[in-house]
Amino acid sequence: MDEVVALASELIRFDTTNTGSPDGTGGERLAAEYVAERLEDVGYETTYVESGAPGRGNVFARLPGSDPSRGALMVHSHLDVVPADASEWSVHPFSGEVSGGYVWGRGAVDMKHLAAMSLAVARRFRRDGVVPPRDIVFAYLADEEAGGVHGAGWLVTHRPDLFDGVTEAVSEVGGFSLTVADGVRAYLVETAEKGVGWLRLSTRGTPGHGSLLHTDNAVSRLAAAVARLDAHEFPLVLTPPVRDFLAGVSELTGVPFSEDDPAAVLGRLGSVARMIGASLRDTANVTMFTAGYKDNVVPSTASAIFDCRMLPGREEAFLSEVDAVVGPGVSREWKSMPPVQTTFDGTLVDAMTAALVAEDPDARLLPYMLSAGTDAKSFQRLGIRNLGFAPLRLPPDLDFTALFHGIDERVPVDGLLFGTRVLDRFLRMC
Ligand SMILES: [Zn+2]
Repeated sequence: MDEVVALASELIRFDTTNTGSPDGTGGERLAAEYVAERLEDVGYETTYVESGAPGRGNVFARLPGSDPSRGALMVHSHLDVVPADASEWSVHPFSGEVSGGYVWGRGAVDMKHLAAMSLAVARRFRRDGVVPPRDIVFAYLADEEAGGVHGAGWLVTHRPDLFDGVTEAVSEVGGFSLTVADGVRAYLVETAEKGVGWLRLSTRGTPGHGSLLHTDNAVSRLAAAVARLDAHEFPLVLTPPVRDFLAGVSELTGVPFSEDDPAAVLGRLGSVARMIGASLRDTANVTMFTAGYKDNVVPSTASAIFDCRMLPGREEAFLSEVDAVVGPGVSREWKSMPPVQTTFDGTLVDAMTAALVAEDPDARLLPYMLSAGTDAKSFQRLGIRNLGFAPLRLPPDLDFTALFHGIDERVPVDGLLFGTRVLDRFLRMC
């Protein structure tokens, strides 16, 4: 299974940077072709698809299972990555260097590690003639980092045939270990994602010379509204996965969990508290502010954009709260993508648990809610049930959340080998 290390390193060497422009950088096609070749090498038939935007490659392969009456399971990974500035890194971000027990590079954890692990397992199954209990669809996708417009989103709309019979899917941002006390490892399985909202606030005022008295200034009115919304704290709402997660950590650590004040339990989570803390309530963070064109002209308009994340069932309440906080004289535009959620039970979760415990007898699986979004949002439109499960056993002191889109992104070699063994077991009994 050491093959997985070479696969991860080689995948990182393709610069699959997603710039957000439809053209891409061409790296996704090269990476997708590489994946297709590795699958064809061992006898898979593959399907290569582009959205119409050249170079935005997606690849699919299917391994038939023993029981066609059961729905297929899809294991999907996105091959694109966010940009990296080489001058900030200890190694070149597209070197795929293997050193010091890590595979280094942009995409190591988001998310070429699962692409490599699933590729290694797919190859092994085919070479060894393994027939899993149900069909497995291996998918490698473009454009996740810009919402899947040329990847998952496009495929769901234009090529639903590729997902025939798929009832469940597993992918990124789950299955990794979090050491919550000495030798006590929780493995976080993503069962929910917050909804995503794009909010634009705009103001209009009376334009004029910057030297005059102004009581109707679009910029200052917007700035005040932005400051009010930024300072506003949305209410604490404990959803089922978050409550189960915090109760589980409380049980593992002995730290008491109070539903009204979960701060004590959050304090045991280290850097992961930033992510879990964001799943306790809706959030709205200002990300862009546009106003003015000359230092001595008061402009007539100003606008700001907020990145908003809502808990399941909260979108309407969120918007009325925003309106109340922002107040009159500010108009808003709104676009949103729904939350994702499923329950933490059933045969798929049983298989995850058995596979993890077989490799780490101290593993304790807990559901959690991701504060960000993934391709699961698109697959949900086909009625597919989504769980985040890309198994990795991590060193206790590694700041894993900081590595996502971070500098010196890297994945431990041991973790990769561990994850591949777990994925292998999981897919044999899924
Ligand atoms: Zn990702």
